Amino acid sequence: MKRAYNFNAGPSALPLAVLQRAQQELLDFRGTGMSVMELSHRSKEYDEVHNRAKQLLKELMNIPDTHDVLFLQGGASLQFSMVPMNFLTDGRVGNYVLTGAWSEKALKEAKKVGETHIAASSKEENYAYIPANESIQLSEEAAYLHITSNNTIFGTQWNEFPDADTDLIADMSSDILSREIDVAKFALIYAGAQKNLGPSGVTVAIIRTDLLERIPENLPTMLDYRTYSTSNSLYNTPPTFAIYMLSLVLEWVKEQGGVGVIEKRNQEKAGVIYAAIDESDGFYAPHAKKDSRSLMNITFTLPNEEVTKRFLAEAKERGFVGLAGHRSVGGCRASVYNAVPLEACEALAQFMKEFPKYFG
Ligand SMILES: *Cc1c(COP(=O)(O)O)cnc(C)c1O
Repeated sequence: MKRAYNFNAGPSALPLAVLQRAQQELLDFRGTGMSVMELSHRSKEYDEVHNRAKQLLKELMNIPDTHDVLFLQGGASLQFSMVPMNFLTDGRVGNYVLTGAWSEKALKEAKKVGETHIAASSKEENYAYIPANESIQLSEEAAYLHITSNNTIFGTQWNEFPDADTDLIADMSSDILSREIDVAKFALIYAGAQKNLGPSGVTVAIIRTDLLERIPENLPTMLDYRTYSTSNSLYNTPPTFAIYMLSLVLEWVKEQGGVGVIEKRNQEKAGVIYAAIDESDGFYAPHAKKDSRSLMNITFTLPNEEVTKRFLAEAKERGFVGLAGHRSVGGCRASVYNAVPLEACEALAQFMKEFPKYFG
């Protein structure tokens, strides 16, 4: 068996041990004589999986009792709509910090629902940095402040979250569980699972429960956070297999020693690749400014289009997958989520050091 050096931006690498366990349990899940996919979502066996995933996430992220964990569908993209539908009410204003394409999409959906305000933006420099917290200017009557904790496409990440004078909402799709955070700072955190949590198909929301009282009465049932909260995310059939995979990924994180251990490893992993960039005498040019660099998505350009093509072709030859950058940045992007091993990062860094010699 040959496993690729997988640097895909999402869906992305899963821990090998998780895949092996899923394979082992695929045909006969814990003595039921069937796959998890074939279990009733009302069965005792599925219930255990569902609640274990929820409980593990609470434990690993230190989620306080003030917050509830919800499992939804529709990806992070549906959250762009659900957030304003549920909370942009009573003539209040949705505040957004623009740090990339995903923030723009979140803002676009909010505009359809109510009044919005751009509280800060780094668009004028092609989103190469995270605006300083002091530069964030809230509107009057702010309903919330929405941020994107890690910008998957541009390769920037918030170091310190703002102390906003309103409820803080974060799209953490591409860095949830990659570092220790203080959940109590946030009114709502949401994340599509397919980067750090598991396969696509389930979206996790962590919501401070007092927010639920603010939700207007007439929302469609499936777009109302209360539906998920009051039913333990079992109002209708949840994505059972995706939640099962999530539970296995969370078990894996726990076995590794928890989020603190994962965070240190992520620093080391990103460190070897950034070092290859910084020590290349400008051959590789980082997109993100140093103080805004992401530990999850490392973006860089090469001297020109031709060299970039050669680099990508050569990389493919050596088993590296998913390194082409997003068209809005160009160049290359290495996504090094939790499940990408240090060894893959070291191999990439080594290749990056060797490659410029062909052009010497
Ligand atoms: C991938 C991603 C999304 C989109 O997620 P979907 O689950 O495909 O809707 C949104 N925000 C961020 C930060 C992402 O990385």
